[in-house]
Amino acid sequence: MFVKLIQIIWTSPNTLIGLVVGSAGLLTGGKAQIREGCIEFYGGVVEKWLEGLNVFGMTLGHTILGQTKTGLRIVRKHEQVHVRQYERWGPLFLPAYLGWSAWLWMIGKDYYRLNPFEVEAYAIDDPANRNADSDDSDDGIDQSDF
Ligand SMILES: [Zn+2]
Repeated sequence: MFVKLIQIIWTSPNTLIGLVVGSAGLLTGGKAQIREGCIEFYGGVVEKWLEGLNVFGMTLGHTILGQTKTGLRIVRKHEQVHVRQYERWGPLFLPAYLGWSAWLWMIGKDYYRLNPFEVEAYAIDDPANRNADSDDSDDGIDQSDF
């Protein structure tokens, strides 16, 4: 419990960014739900923004952004790996992640898939190997949509 509280505080600057983006989604017709200790946002401008970035999902601290509810189900396990990374790295996560990607881009490598944070996440779960029906974690009774 104490460790979890420290993790929530440690990564709260990242979570705050996610809450701002997610709130913009809610104000533009998007929705939110609580899953596995995170607030997930989808639809509205969140969907448009992720479409523009050409990604299905993105983690910011203890928030996960997804284009759609189904998309979130597909990427959840992968994004939860990033949540654990945020809990370890806290406010250093985004500079470290972006720094790795910038370095890989500068040396002409795949700045996304060869990023060590993505290598770890894809080793645990590759969303391309999943489908929306294979994950039953969406049905817990303690979870709420809002
Ligand atoms: Zn990832």
